[in-house]
This record gives sequence, C-alpha cells and structure tokens, in this order.
Amino acid sequence: MRRKLVAGNWKMNGSADSSRELLQGILGGAAEVAAVELAVFPPFVYLGLVEQALSGTAIVWGTQNLSEHASGAHTGEVAGPMLKDFHCTYVIVGHSERRTLYGESDEVVARKYAAARKFGLKPILCVGETLEEREQEVTEAVVERQLKAVLDLEGIASFADAVIAYEPVWAIGTGRTATPEQAQEVHAFIRARLAAHDAALANQVRILYGGSVKGSNAAELLVMPDIDGGLVGGASLDAKDFLAIAKAGC
Ligand code: PEP
Repeated sequence: MRRKLVAGNWKMNGSADSSRELLQGILGGAAEVAAVELAVFPPFVYLGLVEQALSGTAIVWGTQNLSEHASGAHTGEVAGPMLKDFHCTYVIVGHSERRTLYGESDEVVARKYAAARKFGLKPILCVGETLEEREQEVTEAVVERQLKAVLDLEGIASFADAVIAYEPVWAIGTGRTATPEQAQEVHAFIRARLAAHDAALANQVRILYGGSVKGSNAAELLVMPDIDGGLVGGASLDAKDFLAIAKAGC
C-alpha cells in the first residue's frame, strides 16, 4: 500500500511573514489529513524558519533544487550536505522550470538525483512533456528518455528511496489540468517502465501528478490507481486549498 504524498512547491514566492502564516494554517488542519504525508518546499532562504515551525510535527520539508556538487567554487549554488543541516527529507530535481528556464539537461538532472541520494535526501524526480511533444504524440518517448538518464546513472534500486512526479509542462501554472485518464495513462506507463527492471519495487514507488492541481480537481486525480499524490504549485500557497487537496487523498 502506497501512502499518498501531497507536496507543496512554493517556487519563488512569499516572505518570512507569509511563510510563517502559511505554515500555521497548514499545521492547523494537518491532523485531519494525517493519512496523507505532507511536505513543503520553500525557497532556500526560508528553510530555517520552516525547520523551526515543523520540527516535531508530522509535516516534512525539502527544497526545490540542489547542486550536483558537494562543496566548492559554485557561486550561488546550495549543496546536499547544507540541506541535511536543515533536516530536509526530500529535494525536487528536474522540475520543468529548471529544465526549460535554466537549461538543466537529463544528464544534469540525473547527477542532481545522484547527489541527493549521496547526501541522504530523497529525490522527487520530475518528468513530463511539453505541449508540442504531446501534440507530436511523443509523451512516452520523452518520459522514458528522462527516466533512462537516471536509471543509467543510479540504477533501479535507487528508486526505493525516490519519488517520481509526472508533470506535463503544459499543465503547470496554466490552470489546464491533465484529465485523470490522461494522467493515469502516463503514470501506468512510468510504473511499467520501472517494472521492466524490478516489478516488486515498481509497485512501491510513489508517482505524483503535478499540473494545476487544486482542491476542486484533486479527488478525481487522486482516485486513479497509479496516482499516489500531488506535486502542487500555486494551490500550495493557500493553506485551505493545500489541505483540501490532501483531504481528497485521504
Ligand atoms: C509545480 O510547480 O510543480 C506545479 C505543478 O505548479 P502548479 O500546481 O501551479 O501547476
């Protein structure tokens, strides 16, 4: 049985005050959605206040990115051991905004995934196709290529401690959600690709859906057999909406 995970990607939003307020709001309703694992992903600079607010609670946290390197002359980067200092559980790697806006290739994403594991962080590996790729009917080929880069570098066993997020790029921040059937089809494909290497492990891996998930559409997505939770952007900035998504997964 895979426990659902609802992960809030705050992206580059908020202030210290609004982050504290958001966390208080989430904490206020967390007990009602205890069946679901909750995680938040603040900007790096708010990690300290997130750790302070959430330590000792059931909610875990992580970051939206990390360096592929352990330390050294990498101005502006943040390394895995630094995230461990703040007791992060997860780290998102390969978000489509990192891939498209910051030029992260499949190989860079795979190295970041490896770095996360090396320093004891669980990677949430994002994969997904652009609108153009969907229209060209190459969704499966794109997702397979993105997965393969990680499988080649780290192997199937690495997925025992990892999460995958299927995020069609055309659905992120656009208000346009994949239909439950469209999402399920790709989730089942991802699981089948993993199962080709190790069927038992594939059955345990959580595959989240991301792309304009909100309280009003979460239930129909989270009920699908291969959708194990959500990676939520915009709606994670509103405690009520975030908790409503989690409630849909209970
Ligand atoms: C995301 O940032 O991963 C995301 C899915 O964003 P949104 O929910 O706003 O589409």
